[in-house]
Amino acid sequence: MAKLTFLGAAGCVTGSRYLVEAAGKKLLVDCGLFQGSNELKDRNWKPLPLDAKTIDYAVLTHAHLDHTGWLPRLVADGYRGRIFANPATIELTEILLKDSAHLQEEDTERAQRKKYSRHPEPLALYTAEDVEPVLQQLQPMPRKGGFDISPEFRVVSYDAGHILGSTSLELTISENGKKTVVVFSGDIGRYSQPILNDPVTPPRADVLLCESTYGDREHQDGVPEEALATVVNRVVKRGGSIIFPAFAIGRTQTLMFYLRQLEDAQRIPRVPVYVDSPMALSATDLYLRHHEDHNLEFTREEGGGSGDPLDVHEFHLARSVEDSKRINDVTAPCIIISASGMLTGGRVLHHLARRLPDARNAVILAGFQAEGTRGRALLDGAKLLHIHGQEVPVLAEVVELGQFSAHAGKSELLRWAGGFQGAPRQTWLTHGEPVAAQSLQAAMQTQLHWKVDVARYLDTVELGS
Ligand SMILES: [Zn+2]
Repeated sequence: MAKLTFLGAAGCVTGSRYLVEAAGKKLLVDCGLFQGSNELKDRNWKPLPLDAKTIDYAVLTHAHLDHTGWLPRLVADGYRGRIFANPATIELTEILLKDSAHLQEEDTERAQRKKYSRHPEPLALYTAEDVEPVLQQLQPMPRKGGFDISPEFRVVSYDAGHILGSTSLELTISENGKKTVVVFSGDIGRYSQPILNDPVTPPRADVLLCESTYGDREHQDGVPEEALATVVNRVVKRGGSIIFPAFAIGRTQTLMFYLRQLEDAQRIPRVPVYVDSPMALSATDLYLRHHEDHNLEFTREEGGGSGDPLDVHEFHLARSVEDSKRINDVTAPCIIISASGMLTGGRVLHHLARRLPDARNAVILAGFQAEGTRGRALLDGAKLLHIHGQEVPVLAEVVELGQFSAHAGKSELLRWAGGFQGAPRQTWLTHGEPVAAQSLQAAMQTQLHWKVDVARYLDTVELGS
């Protein structure tokens, strides 16, 4: 009988990896990195509980590292099969994996030089060299509609409205003449947002795996551009700068979109915006290439210029380490966008070390901040952050702007789930911390009358009736 094992994103929001076994074949859905506490990060160094060589296929819901960031280790452990994803996800995965490898090498080099790691000889989990073979194994599948991975596994993709290329996957398993439909929600985005299409609920599922990141919470009310304008004006007026922790592609474009509108309406002053990432590139070109994945309208053929809704007036890319460090010399108000979004590593750390001790500055946290991360510590009111072996006092203002979240809030998750034509026979909640998953479980039980359980790490469950 078909079965599924939760190899990650069970009891936490990272490390999405689900193993489906049916008709003698193994399919891995997503292959994410664990992020957050040391206990979670240590899992990245352990092999899977099965031989990676015995996995036949892999498929991705979207490009975020907590869904793709462990692929280099999977391939290093011997996985030689194809990794199916739609064209936008393939392009973004390539960018994110290269960026991830690059930053791990930068972080490791710094930790070795400054000797602040908890490990006597810090190593990168993988390097740029480990990423190359992964890219060879990526195989495009259609953005929409059905696709046969193999005679046993057929997937249909639905818009998830979370990042460019993000999908929910409906997997039909054929075994012994019987068909079982398993839906993987992927990460569900938000409704009525600029740039991305609304999430679409697949019509039916026998078994549903549903994310629960914000299963216990709604995002703040209020118009995003109003909230942003208020913060920008407040900080610039007192001569401060803003750090917006985020990867160069994704939520960053939502921010750019609103900044550009506010600049044009003269509701905020024009301040320089720095996007700091080794892989920083023209997001506009990327969005132009994948126009089926969003609803932005570019009035010019090529990126840039006044017809580009993502082009703020004073825009700078920092690719090299030197470019990145040079931003430290900017004393006039500016906006710095740099990863990682949960402040677990990457270049954003040196910007924080430089700007947190000054009360004029602000950090805007828009993404989910997992337990055990510096981002969560800031939200919880930490007065000190440990960065690169030093204690950095937090005097800067910390602002949570949930309006910029790429994740559905609780009622949006319920709206998405409510879109199924009938109740799934069984629902498993994944990709949520325990409190969030339990809160969504209770809501689904009372509002939808579904059979819902919270997934447990490394549990194997049967998918048949
Ligand atoms: Zn995601």
